[in-house]
Amino acid sequence: MAFDPANNIQDLQYFGEFGGVNPSVSDSSTYTFLSAKTMFDTFEGNTEGCYLYSRHSSPSNLYLGEALAAMEGTETANVTASGMGAITAVILQYCDAGSHIVSGRTVYGGTYAFMKNFLPRLDISTSFVDMTATEKVEAAITEKTKMLYCEVVSNPLLEIADMQSLSAIAKKHGIPLVVDNTFSPLTIAPARHGADVVIHSLTKFINGSSDCVGGVVCGSKEFCLSLKDVNDGAGMLLGSTMDSLRAASILKNLRTLHIRIKKHSENALFLAERFREDGRKVVYPGLESHRGHQTLKKQMNPEYGYGGMMTLDVGSLDKANALMERMQNENLGYLAVSLGFYKTLFSAPGTSTSSEISREEQEEMGLTDGLIRFSIGLDNDIERTYDTMKACMQKLGI
Ligand SMILES: *Cc1c(COP(=O)(O)O)cnc(C)c1O
Repeated sequence: MAFDPANNIQDLQYFGEFGGVNPSVSDSSTYTFLSAKTMFDTFEGNTEGCYLYSRHSSPSNLYLGEALAAMEGTETANVTASGMGAITAVILQYCDAGSHIVSGRTVYGGTYAFMKNFLPRLDISTSFVDMTATEKVEAAITEKTKMLYCEVVSNPLLEIADMQSLSAIAKKHGIPLVVDNTFSPLTIAPARHGADVVIHSLTKFINGSSDCVGGVVCGSKEFCLSLKDVNDGAGMLLGSTMDSLRAASILKNLRTLHIRIKKHSENALFLAERFREDGRKVVYPGLESHRGHQTLKKQMNPEYGYGGMMTLDVGSLDKANALMERMQNENLGYLAVSLGFYKTLFSAPGTSTSSEISREEQEEMGLTDGLIRFSIGLDNDIERTYDTMKACMQKLGI
């Protein structure tokens, strides 16, 4: 049977303590042991199913982790307090002083800043390469390289990484392929195509209501346990722990992710096609003209569509700013960073989410001044949205 991430989530069954249809929330930071010996064994990592202290694990966090592992088709998953909490823990678990990373050049601004500005303090260096040019990826690998890192659908340029060829390179060199799948949950399950570790910022589509920050690391039992190791696990020791109440609320939002993603995708494709017909500079992976269209198609679960992210280049930063303000005034959405909300969110990445990347580097990778990044919302009447957006542009002479 074909892999269906939404079925996998739905088929998990938990009951609350009194038969509740949602699992009970564990409102405790620490747990009792019936015997002193069991406590000792748990510290040594030898007792499964025992809870020790909530920075290590808690029932609510395990429920959410299990559901996300089911979605990604990995053995297990650890939830974290934020997407960056997941990313930094994974990198520091794999790398030592002297290590080297090969990363996609268009990654989330925070990830880029961590690799470029923070990791050199620990003597960890990063080569940023175009992940769609696999020969460049392989050429960048050295004896010191400890991981390949990329986003499946990159931020903000929406380039598509080919999991199969990248994982073949990673395997050949005996290093893990770590991918951030925040832009494309359900649409792609990277671990099914050879990725070793899949990370999400739960803050975005997965939670979907822009009311919290969270993250997850999906991977093998061995790796996820190593992250939680009380003696040397980066997840455990850096302390980026999700709160149980939050884990319970994100799990409830995850139940509707498949419906939301389909709508985000449907709306984004509609707008992208219209704007393309109008001759505008629109980038959307669902358009056949998109450079990564075929690469995405061969890896995707087609029923979820090409995702909710789209970019539009309106020529200059001034025009982009004027258009965004006007669209907000017309109630088309919000001038805000982040993504995956019910309303459309838009921002100019060059001066916001990717401002950590220097101007010269932005130019080199095609991140232009007039670029607006859209996270298309769940609008019920997308034709009306298109008409209003078009009117906004016409008013401003764009
Ligand atoms: C937002 C985001 C992150 C960081 O996640 P936080 O939850 O804000 O820490 C990482 N990667 C991508 C692609 C993102 O969009």
